[in-house]
Amino acid sequence: MSRLALADTHCHLQDPKIAVRAEELVARAREAGVRFILVCGYDLPSSAQALHLADRFPEVYAAVGVHPHDAKTFGPSAAAELESLARHPKCVAIGEIGLDFYRELSPRSTQREALEAQLQLATELGLPVSVHSRGAEDAIAPHLERYAAAANALRAQGRPLGVMHCFGGNARQALRYADLGFFVSIACTIGYPKNERARELARTLPLSALVAETDAPYLPPQWARGQVNEPANVRAAVEGIAEARQVPFEVAAAETTANTARLFAPAETLLPAREP
Ligand SMILES: [Zn+2]
Repeated sequence: MSRLALADTHCHLQDPKIAVRAEELVARAREAGVRFILVCGYDLPSSAQALHLADRFPEVYAAVGVHPHDAKTFGPSAAAELESLARHPKCVAIGEIGLDFYRELSPRSTQREALEAQLQLATELGLPVSVHSRGAEDAIAPHLERYAAAANALRAQGRPLGVMHCFGGNARQALRYADLGFFVSIACTIGYPKNERARELARTLPLSALVAETDAPYLPPQWARGQVNEPANVRAAVEGIAEARQVPFEVAAAETTANTARLFAPAETLLPAREP
């Protein structure tokens, strides 16, 4: 087996577009050197499905959470159910959660309430968070600052507090979240000709704060545009990071994978130890 170890920190293998092919897609990812796949929920059913996939495949882990689009479905009973899902042994994060003021499918105040409640759950359980922010890259700051001040369990273990998934902001905003203790995740879209912004992020942030993701079935790499994305393609995100920083692919792969292991603790069992 090759020593290459890649990690997809954010995908939706439970999405109806690809769920029926989950077994094939996990096998293809394995073949491509992907040793860790985080399946993120976006509402309660998809969170339960993420856990179900985690039960089926050793390299698959789950994040459970209610996406800002679905914030209007979040209330006390959803919160209780989410908490019981989050106690599953293969749940390694709360997510994806956040604010989306771009599509604004739930009212902004409702999004903020759902985000706060889920950040509090993460704090209580000592889990990191997978954060979605779109059109809200500054608006989300006070929420994450409050969470960062309270996340003592993660801090005590010297672990990151979460990840800004497919971060759509600029380098200045990304550095602010990196300083706060968040990692920043780069998607396959870094290879799109017009996406200089993502390349600048990958160049500007320290490599120690970067991880890679596919967001499958969304955001396919340039050469697969118009097709569904899959975890095996996370290599394209890592290649984009390597090119932007002008480091060898192997270096970007080793670093992003080691960062993933710090972020989602159980991943440590799957990933090779960081070389000195
Ligand atoms: Zn997503």
